[in-house]
Formats: sequence, C-alpha cells, structure tokens
Amino acid sequence: MVRLAIHGGAGTILRSSMTAELQAQYEQGLNDALQAGYSILQTGGSAVDAVQAAVVSLEDFPLFNAGRGSVFNNAGGHEMDASIMDGSNLKAGASSGTSNVKNPVLLARAIMDKSEHVLLCGKGAEQFAKQQGLAFADDNYFYNQHRYEQWQQALKEDTVSLDHNDKKFGTVGAVALDAHGNLAAATSTGGMTNKKYGRMGDSPIIGAGTYANNNTCAISCTGHGELFIRAVVAYDISCLMEYKGLTLQEACDVVVHDKLIKIGGEGGLVAIDKQGNICLPFNSEGMYRGYATERERVVMIYK
Ligand code: ASP
Repeated sequence: MVRLAIHGGAGTILRSSMTAELQAQYEQGLNDALQAGYSILQTGGSAVDAVQAAVVSLEDFPLFNAGRGSVFNNAGGHEMDASIMDGSNLKAGASSGTSNVKNPVLLARAIMDKSEHVLLCGKGAEQFAKQQGLAFADDNYFYNQHRYEQWQQALKEDTVSLDHNDKKFGTVGAVALDAHGNLAAATSTGGMTNKKYGRMGDSPIIGAGTYANNNTCAISCTGHGELFIRAVVAYDISCLMEYKGLTLQEACDVVVHDKLIKIGGEGGLVAIDKQGNICLPFNSEGMYRGYATERERVVMIYK
C-alpha cells in the first residue's frame, strides 16, 4: 500500500473570485505534484523522496506561495522557509529565511542528510546550499506581477498579510506512506507578504508545520503560522494518537476544528497515518489539496 497527499495552501478561496481557466491551472499544478510524488512510491521509492518530489513540483509552479511563486517581503525580496522529516528515524532538516535558493525543500533535505544540524537560517543556510551544489535562481525567476501588486498594497497599508488579496495561505506541502511502511512529510513557503524582522512561520519548525513519525502519522500544515506554532499543530496530532489512542481523524478534528479555532488559527493540513488513512482537514473557506492511492487520484479546492 502506498499513499500521497499534498496541499497548495488554505484560506479564503472563493468560487466567486475564481475563473474556470485559473481553476484549471491550479488543478494542473496539484495533479503534476501528485504525479511527481506518486510515481516514486509506485516504483518502491521512499516516502522521503516522494514528498520531496511533490514539493519540488509545487515550488516550481508559480501560483503557489513557495519557491518560484513566493510572496514579497518588506524589502521587496523573497525569504523562503522549508522543512522535511523522515518518520522512520525521526531525522529532520529545515531552512528558514533563504533567498534565491531555487528549491528550498532540497536545501531542507540536504540539511537533514548532509549536515549535523536540523535548522539553518539566512546567509548561513545559503552558504550551505552553495557548498552542496544546489541550484540558485536570480530575482527575476521569483518575480510575479500579482505578488508584486499584493506587496505594493501591503506596503501602502503597512500590513503584514498571509497572501493578501484573497486571504489565501499559499504554502505547499506533502505527506506520504511508502511500500516499506515509512512515513514522511515536507512543507515549503514564502511566508507572509511584506514580512519583516526575519519573521519565520510554522513551516520550517519541526512539530509545528511539519512532523512525521512511523508510529503515528505524517503531517504538513498551512495557515496562520504564528497560531500554528503556538498550537504545536503537527506534533499535537501525533501526540493525541500516540498517548491518547485517538484515530488520525479524531486527532485532526480536535486540533483543527477545536484547539486552533479557539485561538483564532485559520488554516488546515494534510495527514496520513501508518495504516494509510488520509485526512485533509481545514477550518478556512478552502484548501488546495489532493491525494493519490492505488484506486484514485483526487484534487479539490473548496469545502
Ligand atoms: N504557514 C505559513 C506561514 O505562516 C503560511 C501559509 O501556510 O501559507 O508562513
């Protein structure tokens, strides 16, 4: 049995503000990512390689707020966060606040596999990426007219926003169960439009935005990062399963539809447990999401 689930962010995604053409583009982006990750699982590849491939595909797709499509920060640049975790050995890697690294999830993977650390940030992380021979891209690669206008608006209003215009959190992520019974999770984001002071969200924080443990589940989150950090969302779901014996569905319900709501934490997540159950809960209007199993391949946007 193999399983893959992905997301391209949660938020106020309204049918009324979506054109058929744009929706088709989003669905294509999700389907491409499912294909990239699932083909690895199908041929006996690892969950870690599968989530990495799915997230690289989502990072390369300009409509999601990660990699190429990352939002502008206050200085008019892009600072990206990413993480990856291997549930078979609890190894993890994460990077925060990097600029011009083409695929931040590959940097997170290199930190997990090739360094003695878990989380590297800013210039140091970029230096490590260079040493590892990872691809860099110039600012033009990350330029996007829509993101630029979002940023100009946020600058004018002096606000820091999560994918401004439509309150959409465009972070991307993937979780997988491979044929060997191993779970993995990965998440990648450009964070908040107009962010400053080196702001970091939940995405690079193991236990908050990303977590995987073969004994329980694999989780990748999207939403208002500050609240997801405070609720330690991904690890809390794993703990509810491990220590209280809740099912994946029950644990997701408690965290997404109760605990997060009580503190005003809008967003959602994708989750797979060791039995291959898939949950895609969110408490926002919509969430770009999809999953693939032996029997079906599904992508969805709205409730
Ligand atoms: N969780 C991300 C952050 O706060 C945003 C998102 O999910 O789009 O950086």
